[in-house]
Amino acid sequence: MPELGPYGREAALLNPERGAPGVRDSSIGGPLLWPADEPWPACSAPDGESSSGSPACPMVPVAQVFADDIPGPWWPDGVDLLQILWCPNEHWDAPPHQADVSPVVTLRWRRSADFRDVLENPPKPLRHYEFGYLPQPCVIKPEYLVDFPYHEELPETLQPKLERLVKETSPDGGDVITRVAGWKMGGWPTWHLTEPWAYRCEACEAEMRLLFTIASDSATDVVVGRWGDLRIFSCIADHRHPFEVDLH
Ligand SMILES: [Zn+2]
Ligand SMILES: [Zn+2]
Repeated sequence: MPELGPYGREAALLNPERGAPGVRDSSIGGPLLWPADEPWPACSAPDGESSSGSPACPMVPVAQVFADDIPGPWWPDGVDLLQILWCPNEHWDAPPHQADVSPVVTLRWRRSADFRDVLENPPKPLRHYEFGYLPQPCVIKPEYLVDFPYHEELPETLQPKLERLVKETSPDGGDVITRVAGWKMGGWPTWHLTEPWAYRCEACEAEMRLLFTIASDSATDVVVGRWGDLRIFSCIADHRHPFEVDLH
């Protein structure tokens, strides 16, 4: 179906497996390569246990990805390390750009060559974190593919043909062509709860694209929403502009 070509986006499925990653490994829920002289991030947003958000809760590592392990179009110039952390409490009234009733996410883009001293013992989270919000240490086994959008994001003329193709390629009723499921970098998001939505950057109005999908699975022990995905969208013009998180 060559008409789909222009809609293809590179993606890397991370395929997490329980393991013992080190600070210089790409990982889910593993130790982060964190500068010893940089404060560890903490969340002071109100949560289910503290309506004041005080004291601030140290965040926990969700993912660390090195460009050497997962090369792709998602790397801005000059950085080769992406770290994702979150506050493992439930936030009913989420701060701006964060998903409701979810952990609060933060990102760090870094140059791994800048490191000298690495933080040894990051602080532990506070309060009663929610089940499903403490990712277990996993190594990743990246798998590259070209991902395609949900058919509603395609011109109507292509949709019936794509539906036929999806049926033919997955006789068990699954879909191995569009919005491939799991922890992934890049690719296309799935929309179970709303119509497809295109985020625009608050700072520069540029398009935002799916950067990273945090999936619910038993390898990582992560469960978000109703066995859903927490997705991070970033500005394609400048990775330092505010990111957007949603839950599906
Ligand atoms: Zn919090
Ligand atoms: Zn922007």
